[in-house]
Amino acid sequence: MELVISGLGTGILIFFMSVSMTSFLERERRATGISLFAGILISFPFLLPVLLNVKSPDWLSIGLVSIAICWLVIFFIPVRGRIRYTYQRPTNRFDERDTMFSRQTLVPGTKKFEEYYQRKPQNKSPDNKFRRMPGWLKPGSKYHDPILFASARSIFEEVEILHPRVEGIPARVREETDPVAITKTVLQMAGQLGSHSSGITELADYHVYSVGGRGDRYGKVFNVRYKYAIALTVEMDYQLMRTAPAAPTLVESARQYLRSGKIAVELAEFIRSRGYRARAHIDANFQVICPLVARDAGLGEIGRMGLLMTPALGPRVRIAVVTTDLPLIPSSAVPDPAIIDFCRKCEKCAVVCPGQSIPYGEEKEIEGARRWQIDSESCYTYWCHAGTDCGRCVTVCPFAHPDNWFHRLVRFGIRNSAIFRRMAIPLDDLFYGKKPKPRITG
Ligand code: SF4
Ligand code: SF4
Repeated sequence: MELVISGLGTGILIFFMSVSMTSFLERERRATGISLFAGILISFPFLLPVLLNVKSPDWLSIGLVSIAICWLVIFFIPVRGRIRYTYQRPTNRFDERDTMFSRQTLVPGTKKFEEYYQRKPQNKSPDNKFRRMPGWLKPGSKYHDPILFASARSIFEEVEILHPRVEGIPARVREETDPVAITKTVLQMAGQLGSHSSGITELADYHVYSVGGRGDRYGKVFNVRYKYAIALTVEMDYQLMRTAPAAPTLVESARQYLRSGKIAVELAEFIRSRGYRARAHIDANFQVICPLVARDAGLGEIGRMGLLMTPALGPRVRIAVVTTDLPLIPSSAVPDPAIIDFCRKCEKCAVVCPGQSIPYGEEKEIEGARRWQIDSESCYTYWCHAGTDCGRCVTVCPFAHPDNWFHRLVRFGIRNSAIFRRMAIPLDDLFYGKKPKPRITG
């Protein structure tokens, strides 16, 4: 028995020391200190008899072993719990002209401006609020940094250079392809080009905006012209995102729009070279709603903040899509109700949101689907106050921690056990703070 107890004590100490070291490397000072302290405190009663060279009383030995077994059971024994969950598909198509990205391009006094607010008078007053702010990427905004804003602007300009390449004419000769083999090739290519995850779905009508809302696509009716969509994600750097809502997060956001855009454009060009039609959907040039496509391609679930929650990086990703008629095999999209269940209990993003734009409580019925819907008007108004694309919600999400052994273990526990899911929320608050402070530098 002594051997078992001292073995458990050593294991606990090694575990917490490793967590502490990992947290140190992540530059999480609070988590480093707490795991160091917890390791010493928790392993102490287990190691005390060995340290003092005395025999521990039976009641203490049995108690300590029982506590250790309880923790292992809670963590490793699958407890699904009863999760109310149905895979939600919107019943309507969304008009891109109603997005904030489209509305912010409307210039007062123009025909477009008048036409929009005649059709949507309810949006005029909230939009006037963001128009009174200094503006996104503008001097005078709270986090304006001349160097970093200029850097972000130049990256966004580089994304724009890609826009003419999103579409093109396919090669005249169409290569015969085996759908299984070409699916493998396309997904492998996405990975080699730098995507973190990728998947395929059949394109549904609700994936595609009903009407375009940006650039020369404004007012154009979009038809569902392709059979398949390839969705891909790229990782946004954790350390830079931890500065959100300050300027470094904006630069990182722009960089990853560019990276995902390049991958999508290259994939689309590859497909066209095989004689099939393909269109890349990249920043400021989307015809599809990327999070919905990515969800149906099996890359994650849509969480409380309305973003794609991937299993490995949570919402800390950017998404791009390629739509095509190349015959592909859709990925098996296995819904993950555990993420939704976790979101129902967590609310951390709603607590920290400076725009108070993220709803509390459970999902609501919105246009035929139960989901959370953020207040995009107050969110965008905050962007125009901050000058950046904020991203506070993304950074504090317990799923957004770096993809290393410790957080993979925690995510396994969250998926595996409804009991651990409940414990993971206060534990995340304890280790990282209920309202983690933004970092000064990335
Ligand atoms: S912070 Fe919490 S509630 Fe918000 S998306 Fe992440 S897990 Fe869900
Ligand atoms: S980006 Fe910022 S303002 Fe918008 S929902 Fe997230 S935390 Fe709130």
